[in-house]
Amino acid sequence: MLLTLIIVIFISSSITADSCESFVHGDYGRTGQCIKISACLNNVYLPKLCESKPMDVMCCFNTTISYKGCPTIIHRARWNAINPKEQTSLATPVPFVAIYDTVSPSCRTHHECVKQIQGIQKYHMKEKNWSDIGYNFLISESGLIYEGRGWNYIGAHRQGYNSRSIGIGMIGNYSLRKINKSAANALESLIQCGDSCESYAHPTYGKTGRCIKTSDCPNSLYISNLCESQPVDIKCCFSPSAPTPNCPNIVSRSEWGARAPKSTTGMAKSLPYVVIHHTTGGTCTAKSACIVKMKGFQNYHMDSNGWDDIGYSFLVGEDGNIYEGRGWTYVGAHTYGYNSQSIGISVIGDYMSQKPNAAAINSVKALIECGISRGYISRAYTLRGHRDLDSTSCPGNAFYNEIKTWTNYRSLVRSNASPQFNVPEDYLVMQDM
Ligand SMILES: [Zn+2]
Repeated sequence: MLLTLIIVIFISSSITADSCESFVHGDYGRTGQCIKISACLNNVYLPKLCESKPMDVMCCFNTTISYKGCPTIIHRARWNAINPKEQTSLATPVPFVAIYDTVSPSCRTHHECVKQIQGIQKYHMKEKNWSDIGYNFLISESGLIYEGRGWNYIGAHRQGYNSRSIGIGMIGNYSLRKINKSAANALESLIQCGDSCESYAHPTYGKTGRCIKTSDCPNSLYISNLCESQPVDIKCCFSPSAPTPNCPNIVSRSEWGARAPKSTTGMAKSLPYVVIHHTTGGTCTAKSACIVKMKGFQNYHMDSNGWDDIGYSFLVGEDGNIYEGRGWTYVGAHTYGYNSQSIGISVIGDYMSQKPNAAAINSVKALIECGISRGYISRAYTLRGHRDLDSTSCPGNAFYNEIKTWTNYRSLVRSNASPQFNVPEDYLVMQDM
């Protein structure tokens, strides 16, 4: 990320060498002015954009007045974090922010801070036997913000409050003195960011939300409870025409606690088919309940059916969440003869007499759009129900009638549908549970 930024600066400096007023910063927008580095708010500045000015004049960005987004957060990969042993999703928005000092030496340079944070992570994982560094974020006295468990995973910092708070560790020992101004500003901007909706990923529109006036919301797409510190007419508004198509949030295998597959077969890209299933059995309308079901499906497919892994590519709950099965890149075991040519999406529940709720249907559609935008599914794909391709009632009468109204649904011309057996599990006959 930083490398990309440096390249961008280099290119733009060759065009607009003399000031930075036309430069659009990724986080702060067009707020930069050539001012003395010591006066730079929050130490947010870029070199090279005010080249004709004296050395101590830099392009400084105003992070408080024209606050446009979240401050730059240094990703885990940039401090060489060890992968977490496990992760549990944090339900947001949370009602508490918990602030700590790390009671370790403070740090000024990125290099020093990385050493500190790595030491803290090692201590938390090896000595305390936690699954990851405890804090959600760490902040240094140089004003840098480092990602710990981040916004989306429950931390380990305060017993009884972890699932209801974001824990922020201020790097240093502050029993005798206050944190400095840079650290305080960074803390404030991080909390402001968390209190807005910029870290929230909308299932359909992704991370495009901003706290703006409801009357200015594009297409009136807003969520009401994510900008709570703002005036009442300010809501979290989503842009449905984001420049790049956004993919919905997908609950990863590690998030739902999947077992490792016995083996995997790589999947081609630009697949010609999407096959819709239902799992039969009960529905789930809460993430925790859906996760219990996911584990049940996987155990059944692996232990009773003897398959390599859970059969479907993805599952969707009536909680609106999408759960990763074999994902985009591995061949599934869900539709006899079509596994290596299709993404199999199964909605959790039985949809014979009633179709899935709107949350689930929207997520299925968003997932297909996402697959197309990323090149996994052909733009000219054919949508089919499992019953079109095999003798089964799946995905249930009501759901089948629903998908038949979708644009890419094609009724089956049987002569064109000769099954292809490309991988061992293509022979598997899916029996939906
Ligand atoms: Zn099926």
